[in-house]
Amino acid sequence: MNTIALSFDIEDWFCVQNMKEIFPFKKWNLCELRVYESTNYILKTLNERNIKATFFVLGWVAERIPDLVLNIAKQGHEIATHGYSHTPINHMTRNEFQKDTEKSLSLLQDIVGRPIYGYRAPSFSITKNTLWALDILRELGIKYDSSINPIKHPEYGIVGFNQEIHFVNGILEVPLAASSLWGVEIPISGGGFFRLYPYWFFKMMLRKKSSNGHAVTYFHPWEFDSKQPKIKLPLSKKFRHYIGLEKNKNKFEKFLNDFEFVPICQLINGHLPLMISHEKGPKLDQEVIYLP
Ligand SMILES: [Zn+2]
Repeated sequence: MNTIALSFDIEDWFCVQNMKEIFPFKKWNLCELRVYESTNYILKTLNERNIKATFFVLGWVAERIPDLVLNIAKQGHEIATHGYSHTPINHMTRNEFQKDTEKSLSLLQDIVGRPIYGYRAPSFSITKNTLWALDILRELGIKYDSSINPIKHPEYGIVGFNQEIHFVNGILEVPLAASSLWGVEIPISGGGFFRLYPYWFFKMMLRKKSSNGHAVTYFHPWEFDSKQPKIKLPLSKKFRHYIGLEKNKNKFEKFLNDFEFVPICQLINGHLPLMISHEKGPKLDQEVIYLP
């Protein structure tokens, strides 16, 4: 079947967890904003192929560049939230998490003029210890979460997590893609893993994973920005952030040519009843937000 859900976490190069010590949230205003150009590259590349995707936009980016968010929505993509400040959930109290998510939802909803239904945690930080966050998301009107990474990783992941789309704590969970290699689940969802693996390997594993269903993939705008400032980082963080950046645009475009893609809202159609409602908000060129 090979249904691939394509998603992007819209954040700038300095928002990532690997740079947290050098660029804490309070310093973000001093950094060079590059997310506008790198997201426009994504939009142009998708547009050329008539591909629609889900964009999990960071609230801070939406606040700084509301036009970017409106532009993404106008081009027919799904807008979802990546929280406001990119703080991993395990670094927040329940109250802080609620405030952070509410702030991002309010910013995004004001821009696009309609409810936001999808959520992705910063650094995939919904793990066994933070499943409580799903209750808060549900209370805030979120209908699906796409944050659980079913792999072994030092900072996130739930090993052995059911990779089917299913309800957890009353919210639809849409896990990231992993595939079995010699009995071990390896990540094939995109991001740094896409940059690290040879393309033929990624393609083969993704075909295998999606052959009897679907796979959820993700990328970041800064992964297509090889001219971003190069920051001195500890070796492992440097590796994770900069590996494969130079050739990533070519690799990504090959990937776009090799598979068929849907936004996550379309992938979950069978799991939630479909309704399209658009009395409020700006007139969009195309209606694509599938409201449950
Ligand atoms: Zn992120």
